[in-house]
Amino acid sequence: MKSTGSNSTAEAFAGLHGVAPAGVWSAPGRVNLIGEHTDYNDGFVLPFAIPQRTWVAAAPRSDGLITLASVVDGSVVTAQPLDLASLAPGVEGWAAYPAGVAWVLRQQGITGGADLVIDGDVPHGSGLSSSHSLEVATALGLLGLAGVEASAADIAKWVQQAENDFVGAPTGLLDQTASLCCTAAHALFLDVRSGQQEQVPFDAARHGLEVLVIDTRVSHSLVTSGYAERRAGCEEAARLRGVAAVRDLDTEAGLPDELQPLVRHVITENARVLDTVALLRSDRYEEIGPLLSASHASLRDDYRVSCPELDVAASAAEKAGALGARMIGGGFGGSAIALVPAPLRADVEQAVLEAFAAQGFGAPRMFTAIPAAGAGRDL
Ligand code: ADP
Ligand code: MG
Repeated sequence: MKSTGSNSTAEAFAGLHGVAPAGVWSAPGRVNLIGEHTDYNDGFVLPFAIPQRTWVAAAPRSDGLITLASVVDGSVVTAQPLDLASLAPGVEGWAAYPAGVAWVLRQQGITGGADLVIDGDVPHGSGLSSSHSLEVATALGLLGLAGVEASAADIAKWVQQAENDFVGAPTGLLDQTASLCCTAAHALFLDVRSGQQEQVPFDAARHGLEVLVIDTRVSHSLVTSGYAERRAGCEEAARLRGVAAVRDLDTEAGLPDELQPLVRHVITENARVLDTVALLRSDRYEEIGPLLSASHASLRDDYRVSCPELDVAASAAEKAGALGARMIGGGFGGSAIALVPAPLRADVEQAVLEAFAAQGFGAPRMFTAIPAAGAGRDL
């Protein structure tokens, strides 16, 4: 396996620019234990950071250009240099993510020109939020070069503006807040409306359990998928009921037929987050399993954002002994998680591989996710 980290990213920078970077910043991907499609409804989420990260090595430039390079499969890919003064939405491909952050920070009067070299090991398009790990690491790098300290809440908001207004993905606050604020050995209980956070100890291993991530390798696109449609449906429901967000509703009754299942998902999912937090606090980890499975059923049947590969991953894992399983992330592909008794892990993996093969799906990638540290400066 290739070794990726702050040192190798600094070396890649030196190889490309002939000098050491001024610093290296990094930010993790995330798994959301529960609380899906609740963030843009002002609700509750419970993510934890994964060990896979994105690193950004950066140095200032005096000519107002942003240069971007990324190490992809061991070789360096460079993007067209961008002039900050004329930077505007419309940048294509991967460069849009760091460019969007530079664009937002320039509007704040923060960004100057910079050379950025990126490396990372968060799988792309797997629902583990490689895009937000890249955006958060970029934001920390550009802030660091400018010597500006900003609150996590501000950075999260700027990154959201970059995804929404520059990249064009109508995502909420979950992913970047997780990447910024999660800490090792904890899940982050976040009330998106108030911004209130609680670090909840989360140590599955101590309970003889593992969180197995099953990356279906079906890649999704939050720019083109039904994500925006679901979000618009929720906003319409809130508008019809005269409330700020679906978070404020306690029943779907009386809403138009097509909006009822969306609202039902959000109401029940918020309740499942609160129940999961209560179970974690009282060390009743095994009882979380059924909540994960109920979340999956709700995302599949009410919110309708699952896909055959995610359904097969969840059901095969459960049949082989997982206590519960669910899709994570926006849906339409990406990853599922399963809460697995450690002694059954090999059986569950085998069962998932066999079920995928039987359906003619490509082999999924699996790993155990252990809560890791959030974003910061490495070098
Ligand atoms: P997810 O966030 O679930 O991984 P997205 O589609 O939101 O999926 O974001 C994936 C995209 O983010 C990639 O296709 C790529 O454009 C960009 N990206 C993420 N990490 C990197 C990286 N290390 N180098 C270049 N681009 C990256
Ligand atoms: Mg993303």
